[in-house]
Amino acid sequence: MWKRRVASLVREGIIKSEAVRMAFLKYPRYLFVEERYRGYAHVDEPLPIPAGQTVSAPHMVAIMLELAELRPGMKVLEVGTGSGWNAALIAELVRTDVYTVERIPELVEFARRNLERAGVKNVHVIPGDGTLGFPPKAPYEVIIVTAGAPKVPKPLIEQLKPGGRLVIPVGSYHMWQDLYVVMKDENGRIKKKRWGGVAFVPLIGEHGWER
Ligand code: SAM
Repeated sequence: MWKRRVASLVREGIIKSEAVRMAFLKYPRYLFVEERYRGYAHVDEPLPIPAGQTVSAPHMVAIMLELAELRPGMKVLEVGTGSGWNAALIAELVRTDVYTVERIPELVEFARRNLERAGVKNVHVIPGDGTLGFPPKAPYEVIIVTAGAPKVPKPLIEQLKPGGRLVIPVGSYHMWQDLYVVMKDENGRIKKKRWGGVAFVPLIGEHGWER
């Protein structure tokens, strides 16, 4: 059923690159949800994960990965680890260390367990407020934020390498946002491109929404 989901994302033109298709096949979403949800992992909708959060729908994850234009060797920061699924896919695409920040301790543990079970070794799950980025490993060629922000957090722009891109949903607290690709050119100038409407849980933190 998962293979069929991947094939239909390719047919619909949502998965565009062979690299993303192969990553989806290597790390099916069912490896990153609780047992009772495994039978639904191929359905193209978000699924619950612990602490009242969600793992995004397969089409949403594919859209963000394609917009990120990941290549082997890129240094990537993800904000919002959740289940660890997206981090596993990123790690497969860049084939080097990936840093991912999660604010809910229960999910830090959940993601670490999932990643270990899936055999992913190059993802570092960091507990904390991802709106502050992760300065020890900055700058990043790509930053992917998987929760909805009220505005683009300044530390994330600062931690983006010239030539780098940030993929982030920005909009309201209750589910509706626009997905943006924020690009920093070689001179440090910022350009934003709006992709379209999306629905994410809120990004909560110093440069996000208040608790
Ligand atoms: N990427 C995840 C996956 O593959 O399962 C799904 C992410 S879920 C839609 C959003 C996650 O962002 C939640 O786990 C939530 O706790 C986390 N989050 C919200 N605000 C955060 C912050 N300031 N720093 C780090 N994580 C945050």
